[in-house]
Amino acid sequence: MTPARKVAPTNADTSASKRATTPAAKVAPKKSGLKKATPSAWTDHEIGEPHPLASSPANDRAPLGAHVSIAGGTAQAALRVREIGASAAQIFTKQANRWLERDVDAAEAADFRAAFANTPSRWICAHDSYLINLASPDPELRARSISSFRTELRRCHALGLQALVSHPGNFMDDRASGLARNVDAIVEALEAEPGATMLLMELTAGQGTVLGGTFDEMAALVGAIPRELASRVGVCLDTAHIWAAGYDLATHYDDVWAQFGDTIGFERLGCLHLNDSKAALGSHLDRHELIGEGTIGGEAFRRIMTDERLAAVPRIIETPKGDMPAATDSRMLSLLRSFSAA
Ligand SMILES: [Zn+2]
Ligand SMILES: [Zn+2]
Repeated sequence: MTPARKVAPTNADTSASKRATTPAAKVAPKKSGLKKATPSAWTDHEIGEPHPLASSPANDRAPLGAHVSIAGGTAQAALRVREIGASAAQIFTKQANRWLERDVDAAEAADFRAAFANTPSRWICAHDSYLINLASPDPELRARSISSFRTELRRCHALGLQALVSHPGNFMDDRASGLARNVDAIVEALEAEPGATMLLMELTAGQGTVLGGTFDEMAALVGAIPRELASRVGVCLDTAHIWAAGYDLATHYDDVWAQFGDTIGFERLGCLHLNDSKAALGSHLDRHELIGEGTIGGEAFRRIMTDERLAAVPRIIETPKGDMPAATDSRMLSLLRSFSAA
């Protein structure tokens, strides 16, 4: 056994927290049905057809894909999944930076399922709104957050998604009370919204007063979910977040995963977010970078792609897309596939 090397971070960063850099979706959710393929302004291929840089998902052991935009409606995301040749996908189901809520009706759900049936994707998750703070000490904000979180779950159930990825909240006043409020809110929402979609709580960079920046705290959060709901709750590990939180995947890879196994447990790991980082180890800054081009470096990702303990865990990139989303995401997925083929 690996001794408990001190890779856990301190969590006392009180500087102003910065907004996550997950790709922003431009959402116009009312439109349904797929548009006809049209020449794209930013690539040399037809929208919805595989990009020249896309590689085949045929040999993906675990579902592998990217966060894709739902601009034009949720079914439109399927075109982007086809373009990049992904066997997994992550979407927002509404504008992630607005409180405006919506439900998914039967027509949208049918369009979505039909569109995705025509893709190589076999695992789809949603990421919830950044405004939700289930740990808030402000009763009004917390009530609004629980209501919004419930609609996130309802949309996932309606669309038949495998998982909803959600960030733990900001405790604002004191950590223990915030953790308890976060757990209670999750329980309230899950009890009110039964369904098959897994809730995956995402490890954070530990910025400001956000919860979930250490494995121990995440273990406490998911461990506090009552037994009858526990099978619906797991964890999402974002490599850029844990790096910024102080877990050194680049030089202490084995120790980090040993610590993960000892605290949270591999059986709870429902999704990997594979992102390199623009920020320094332990900086508590959430800044995603292209894989192999950031401060983590390619080797950690090569090890993840060949790690038998992670072989079945779906993996999603949330790397910068630049001006050419399909080309950039295709290049990233090809790079990751080249690691596992080696
Ligand atoms: Zn996230
Ligand atoms: Zn993430």
